[in-house]
Amino acid sequence: MIIIKNPAEIELMRKAGKVVGDLLKYLEEKICAGMTTKQLDELAFNFIKRAGATPSFLNYGGFPASICVSTDEQVVHGIPSNKILKEGMLVSVDVGAKLNGFQGDAARTFMIGDAGEEKRKLISVTRESFFKGVEQFIEGNRLGDISAAVQKHAESNGFSVVRALVGHGIGREMHEDPSVPNYGHAGHGIKLEKGLVLAIEPMINLGTYKVLTLDDGWTVVTADGKPSAHYENTVALTENGAEILTL
Ligand code: MG
Repeated sequence: MIIIKNPAEIELMRKAGKVVGDLLKYLEEKICAGMTTKQLDELAFNFIKRAGATPSFLNYGGFPASICVSTDEQVVHGIPSNKILKEGMLVSVDVGAKLNGFQGDAARTFMIGDAGEEKRKLISVTRESFFKGVEQFIEGNRLGDISAAVQKHAESNGFSVVRALVGHGIGREMHEDPSVPNYGHAGHGIKLEKGLVLAIEPMINLGTYKVLTLDDGWTVVTADGKPSAHYENTVALTENGAEILTL
């Protein structure tokens, strides 16, 4: 069931979204070679607490940390650990926070130092794919218009779109209906209406779109071991069009 949000609820989601957007900027400033993924998680936990919010992912389905940190071939849901970040790594950071009963969800892929031309392009095309999707988040369009726009941009740049994981509706719950695939057909799916709030999150791979889950039960990796990037924001369809709540 899709839950449409009224303007007062969207106002609360702006506040949760701001915590998440600010947290990602803070982590981008802090992230560097030599630190562990667990240190990033601790910084995030403290930031979210200082903001008076709750880390959404902590204990979600048993997840043991406040944020997901996924490196290189890890697509999403990497568990923070003693892994040390090194020059040339891609680091995807996915964060969620709950404030005043509403959720915010966003992700970025950062580069440690210079990761080279190919990985740089993967990050920028993943980000651009998100914005191509948002351009289609218009009242009266169909959900498939967003999906198709993301897919077209990623694939026309020679990359592949993860199928096994998708974006989602978001509100009081982190994962609400509808599912928001990053692939599909324009003109198909539900009609987009005011008050719809979506986490749009392209996960784009350098090689195959196929993914596997590691034995830890969480970490999703590319089947061919090639790098992956992630870019996500919580986006509301308001009176004034699509508004990104987590920038
Ligand atoms: Mg999400």
